[in-house]
This record gives sequence, structure tokens and C-alpha cells, in this order.
Amino acid sequence: MLSLNGEMRVAVCYPPLLYRGRVPVLTQSRIFSFTHSSEIRIYPLVMAQAATLLKADGHGVSWLDGISAGEGLDGWWTRFGAVAPDLAVVETKVTMIRRHWAFIDELKARFPATRVILVGDHVSYFPEESAGACAVDYIVAGGDYDLGIRAIARFEAGEAIDLPAGVWARGRSAGAEPPALDADVDALPWIDRELTKFNGYGEAYLHRPVAYILSGRGCGGIKAVGRCTFCIWQYAFWRKTARLRDPRNVAAEIKHLVDRYGVREVFDDNEAGGMWDLPWLTAFTEELERLDVAGKVHISSNCRADSVTPDRVELMKRAGYRMLKIALESGNDETLRQLAKDETVEEIVRGVKLAKDAGFAVMVTTMIGFPWETDADVRRTYEVAKDLLLYRAHRGDCLEANVVIPYPGTPLHKTMLDRGWFTIDPMDYEAYGLSKPVVTSPADPIAWGRKLWRLHRHPLFVARSALSVRSVHDLTLGWRGLRSLLGHERDYTAVPAGAQAVEPA
Ligand code: SF4
Repeated sequence: MLSLNGEMRVAVCYPPLLYRGRVPVLTQSRIFSFTHSSEIRIYPLVMAQAATLLKADGHGVSWLDGISAGEGLDGWWTRFGAVAPDLAVVETKVTMIRRHWAFIDELKARFPATRVILVGDHVSYFPEESAGACAVDYIVAGGDYDLGIRAIARFEAGEAIDLPAGVWARGRSAGAEPPALDADVDALPWIDRELTKFNGYGEAYLHRPVAYILSGRGCGGIKAVGRCTFCIWQYAFWRKTARLRDPRNVAAEIKHLVDRYGVREVFDDNEAGGMWDLPWLTAFTEELERLDVAGKVHISSNCRADSVTPDRVELMKRAGYRMLKIALESGNDETLRQLAKDETVEEIVRGVKLAKDAGFAVMVTTMIGFPWETDADVRRTYEVAKDLLLYRAHRGDCLEANVVIPYPGTPLHKTMLDRGWFTIDPMDYEAYGLSKPVVTSPADPIAWGRKLWRLHRHPLFVARSALSVRSVHDLTLGWRGLRSLLGHERDYTAVPAGAQAVEPA
């Protein structure tokens, strides 16, 4: 471990900037929204890794996530003032960026000596925009922003004479080169969970205490690396690459989380988990068994449907996987083709059903409101999603419906711009996070979204879920899921003034 003479105070900042009482889903979030749900507190893994690296370098790190703490802005500023950091790190997304520009200017006015670092997917594409719009000092491009933040701290502390590629600095010429993305992910220390207050995070569908992990960075796949045209992280953060950690390292970290913190669930928030790589999954399972932790903690993960094969299912059962988050997106092959999903509806249905046959809970995610999808097309998505939700439904199964939001920088955004499909000013960044359509759609995405969320009330689903409850933990999970669902339904009733979303029959 390096101990620096130029020790600094560094604050990780998530100021609680709400929208009409709605909470920004900002951390570790590919799809941004302001939500009424109080159950979504996703642990910011890369930022937590940054905090861990800074502490290892000898800096004093303050974790000021006012969003997860549910605190007010005044209280948050008081905490910030008590730290008076030398460096303040802010993560942003497109929807929040104008608020963050104003926030950074206020921060610099109140604390002129504090240097501000901005990170996130949007600024990875457009650093000059933020540099010109606010008084930020540094901007880090790319998903390995933990390493960029550490490099800036070393630079500020006088321990490094230059900054790496991908780091923009006010008054310097650095930043023109793209970030390298070649870091050895196994060289990173395990995240310091206490420093980063991991117990304040979780989602309705995960048992607590839950610890989020990353088995790697970037979306891999059986056929090819992920290239979905709407996937902001796979483009802005990982530039269509995928790295997996050594499976033995991941298994050892899970054992550590169980032994030290008694976690009941681990969620792998790597883009597509690690199971797409069969040798990786085999070694991971065998190591969990060797460490005697397999089956003693629930493991849940993002997963592509085409990674759910009989051999992988057997390994995942041995390892203790409980829930898989699988994207359907659309029930129409032509849409999946246009999105470069590299999967067909049939493959996705087969993968989800195989997972459910094996007893895994499955969260199916959908997107509604593509400009080329008619009402009949969206109905097909609805019918496929309904079939998947009701198929062998049991506790923990759920469905997610998102309005199509093309994020600036993605191929999908460019298509929407080229074809004139935006119904808002594409520079009206706040509109990208209000769970309302921003592009034209023959079908009504709000009404279909509400109808999809309401599938959780289907009598068959409710009955089968209730009958499969086995423990008080299951009941707790069900209660939290219900509260979260009600919050999501409120998101979908927030139609524009004067408009009325009418559910399709
Ligand atoms: S499969 Fe998921 S994580 Fe991978 S590129 Fe597509 S949307 Fe992104």
C-alpha cells in the first residue's frame, strides 16, 4: 500500500437533488429515472472502488451519499462543510447534468479551495460541454473512473507529474486521448464496505443484508461482446469491451462478505454477469464449493438469456444463484435486430423458461415506446412478458417496464436524431429522466408501461407467488416488492398535465 505525504480530504458526493419529491436513481444506473419508489438504492460499485483506492493511498475519504441516506440538502451541505474537502467527486448522468453544473458552481462559490472531479457516462462522451458549463476542475472519461480519480488525487498530492489518458483538467491539455480500459481488474483491492456504508443500499427484490459486487467490467456474451445500440454504459464506459475478474478472486470476496458481514445475498452488477464464460462459471462454482460457501448465500446477477444453457444452469444451481435479471426489451424480432441485441425473442423465451424450470427467480426487463413499434407490436411485447411472468411463477419473479430513452452518445440516440423522432428538444436533458416519452411512438408508452407493471397484480401471479412463500425472509421481500411496485405505478401515472393515460384493453 502506498502512503502519501500529501494526504488529502476527499469527499464522494451524491447531493440529494430531488425532483418534485422524486428520488434520482443515479448510482450504478444504466437507465436513469426520478422515482417515487423508496426501495431503489443501488450501490455505486466503481465509486466505492475509488473510495477504497483513495483510502489505500492514505487520503481521508468521506462518503457523502445524501440520496441513499435520505437526507435533506441543507443537512447534506452541513456535512460537506464539516469535511471541507480538498477534492470532491461527483457522479452525473444526462438528466442530472444541468443540476450538477449549478451544484458545482455553488460548491466552488462556497468552498473555492475544493477541487471538483466529475465522472459518469454522459461526461465520458461530452467532457467539453461540462467544462464550458461549470467551474469543474477535472472530468474523467470512461468506466474505469476509479483509477482516473486516484490518478488525479496523486497528481494533486504532488506524487505524479502527469495525468492519464481520458482525464480532462482545467488549464491543461490532457484529456484528448480516450481512456485506456486495460487495467487489470484483479489488481484492485476488494471494496471497503464499511467506508462506503454498504448497508444503506439495496433493492426491493434482494434479500438483506445485500452486497453488490462486480465480477468484471463490460458486457461479454456467448456470441459476441454486447453492442445493444441503446446501452449507454457499453458504449460510454466500456467501448464494447468485456473484462472478467479471476473467478477465484470473486469467490473469495463473496466468502469474505459472508464471513465478515453476514450478507444473505450478493448481486453481481456486472453488465451480463460472468456466466456467459463457461470456464469462468465452472471455476467460480468449484471455488465457491471449495470455500464451503456455495449455497450458503444467495447469488443474483444480470444475465443474458442466451447464457442460460443446461450446462450453465447446473453450475449456477450448485453455486447458489437465486435470481437472474434478464432483458427481453421487446417481443418483436425486428426490434431486437434494430437494437443489435444479438438474440431473438425465441432465444430469450427459451432462456427465461429454462431458468424458471431450474427454480431461479427471474426479473424480465422490457422497453416500450420505440418509434417503429405499433400498438400491435407493443401488445406482442406485453403478451410475451406476461407469458414469461406467469410461467411457473414463484416468489421473487418480477417484471420491469421502461420507457425508451435514447441517451446522447449511443447509436440509438443518433438514429433518433437522424430520423427526426425526438418529440422534445434533444438538449432538454432533464426530460430524459421523467419516465415520459421523449421520442415519437404510435403506441402510448405510459399506458402500456402501467399495464405491464400491473401484471404483478394478475391473480395467477399473486396466487403462485403467495403459495411459494417459504420463510419470513420471503414475506419481507414480498412486502418490500409491493411497496416498490406502488412507487413505480405512481411513476407511470405522472402523465403530462392535461393528458390522461388510458390503459389498452
Ligand atoms: S446485453 Fe445488456 S449490458 Fe450487454 S450491451 Fe446489451 S443492454 Fe448492454
